[in-house]
Amino acid sequence: MSATAEKMEFQTEVKQLLQLMIHSLYSHKEIFLRELISNAADAIDKVRFEGIADASLLGDDKDLKIRVNLDKATNTITITDNGIGMNREDLINNLGTIARSGTKNFMENLSGDSKKDVSLIGQFGVGFYSLFMVADTVTVKTLKAGDSQGFSWKSEGAGEFEIEENDKLTRGTEITLHLKEEESEFVDAWQTRGVITKYSEYVSHPIHLEFQEETPESGEGEDKVEAVIEQKDEVLNAKPALWRRSKSDITKEDYDEFYKHISHDHAEPLVNSHNKVEGTQEFTTLLYVPSKAPQGIFQQDTPNGLKLYVKRVFIMDDCKELLPSYLRFARGIVDSEDLPLNVSREILQSNKVVDTIKKHITKKILSELKSFSENNALEYHAWWSELGNVIKEGFYMNWENLDELKALLRFQSSNGGSDKDLTSLTDYVSRMREDQKDIYYITGESRQAVESSPHIEIFKDKGVEVLYLVDAIDEWVTQSLFEFDGKKLKNITKGEIDLGEESKEDKEKSEEAQGQYKDLLSGIQTHLDTKVKEARITTRLKDSPCCLVADDNDMSANMERIMKMTNQDVPVSKRILEINPEHPISKKLLSAFDTDKEGEATKNVMDYLYYQALIAEGTDLPNPGEYVKLVNKMLGQAL
Ligand code: ADP
Ligand code: MG
Repeated sequence: MSATAEKMEFQTEVKQLLQLMIHSLYSHKEIFLRELISNAADAIDKVRFEGIADASLLGDDKDLKIRVNLDKATNTITITDNGIGMNREDLINNLGTIARSGTKNFMENLSGDSKKDVSLIGQFGVGFYSLFMVADTVTVKTLKAGDSQGFSWKSEGAGEFEIEENDKLTRGTEITLHLKEEESEFVDAWQTRGVITKYSEYVSHPIHLEFQEETPESGEGEDKVEAVIEQKDEVLNAKPALWRRSKSDITKEDYDEFYKHISHDHAEPLVNSHNKVEGTQEFTTLLYVPSKAPQGIFQQDTPNGLKLYVKRVFIMDDCKELLPSYLRFARGIVDSEDLPLNVSREILQSNKVVDTIKKHITKKILSELKSFSENNALEYHAWWSELGNVIKEGFYMNWENLDELKALLRFQSSNGGSDKDLTSLTDYVSRMREDQKDIYYITGESRQAVESSPHIEIFKDKGVEVLYLVDAIDEWVTQSLFEFDGKKLKNITKGEIDLGEESKEDKEKSEEAQGQYKDLLSGIQTHLDTKVKEARITTRLKDSPCCLVADDNDMSANMERIMKMTNQDVPVSKRILEINPEHPISKKLLSAFDTDKEGEATKNVMDYLYYQALIAEGTDLPNPGEYVKLVNKMLGQAL
């Protein structure tokens, strides 16, 4: 150890991760190359970006590139970049002691099938450590842009690393891996060339593969040619950036590979959309919708968004400003000709150019999803169960593109047999009965809960389809989903229900019931005054004696349930108790009321009906003990 050398311990979680890397058997060890090349490319992006503001950072070293050098004699691979480099502090923070949130997440996600999962390492921001799958010693030599003192970092992965000053004079980072005996295949040019072209073809900086090629001796006697060893330098990714190429030159495989490259996803994308826009503004977009929900999509601080380039210069990852939040699963790149190269987050937040691009992207993604859904209904349904709830956020406090968003919605409904069967609003409308005016839906906790709700009885009886809105977010969706195709959407637990013309017979019957029940209804209202705002006769019930409905403008019971669950203050709104005049209990209550308006038995039944209505719709009883006492008392009297 020299005078400046210092030994340090890896942070505990990093140590655990290293243990895994060193000792487990992984099937895709070659991904370490992808991770190191991607870090080198990031470092070059950074220096190019910072060089825009301060040209001295680049100096004369402007030929930005990555070099992968193979040395059979020493069994080493060296990956070199002339990117941003690291100072002493960077080395400690980035490669050593500081806990990075991804370390733990990655390990938790590994527990299942670690052999397979290792290729996900890049998603968790700990890709660097994957090199310990193949190397027993690693040395990082680096000089940060603008600095004069270089440093080296060395580790065997065991638990500690060593940092010391180094005399590296050129900007950037050089990482030398001494390969484990059994991993020496990676010094083979043929092998490594294959890996790099497979995983890193779309890195937007040239990757040079440097190796020695031996032409064996040939011929005999006078014709004998001595073996020659030639130093080779091959550029592996000479093609222009994929999105700048013309669509007709790009295959589906090219698009898919590029997607995997930028997203770290190993599944194919659901759809892609490649567009070149010219006119008052000029930009290119290459957009993808993943087929599965990306890691952490429902967590607040997960980086999401598109990669932003300005005139082919990489500006930033995860640019959220280019997408509405309800499309945050989208991946891809935007290359603008009009934004300034020194664009900052602040500029992006209120910028006309960005607005135009964002509008364009939003329309594109929505229309791609629509046509996909029309051509691949089942696949779309599977996708919808993964990411539909993100799209639904588009209905919250947003009035743009509502028609496009409505076309993407899928719901369960009384028409389907299981929670796998989904319907679009268009399909619902095509099945509407001739005399049906509204689109009916019910909100609730689950398919099972809404199917056994009393509110749905008359719809089942008459064969009128009801949509089941059983995700919590659906309550918010309905706040901007009032109509579709000229038809109102109606919550069947609220307001009055009008299922078309009543027959003359039914009309007479209900008029008669109104007369008979008039006094009882006002008796109920008086007795349950603190709980219900009104008692009335209903036609919406078949098998149940009663149910509770909210006024059109009041909050639904389901919304109250959700708000209570999330500990929010729920404004008190009394609901309407609706009585089924045909039900035997109602009829019994009617005669009990006629005999003794103020009798205890009469009042017990009124209370009982109210509790029943709450239980039937799935609302938690405010005081279950009281209900049990009531039922016991009534049973005792009846038996
Ligand atoms: P990630 O790339 O997702 O941040 P890694 O584990 O791959 O995670 O790399 C950790 C960090 O180490 C990087 O964020 C970067 O700050 C630093 N780093 C790694 N390689 C280089 C390099 N070649 N040049 C400069 N910095 C690097
Ligand atoms: Mg990385």
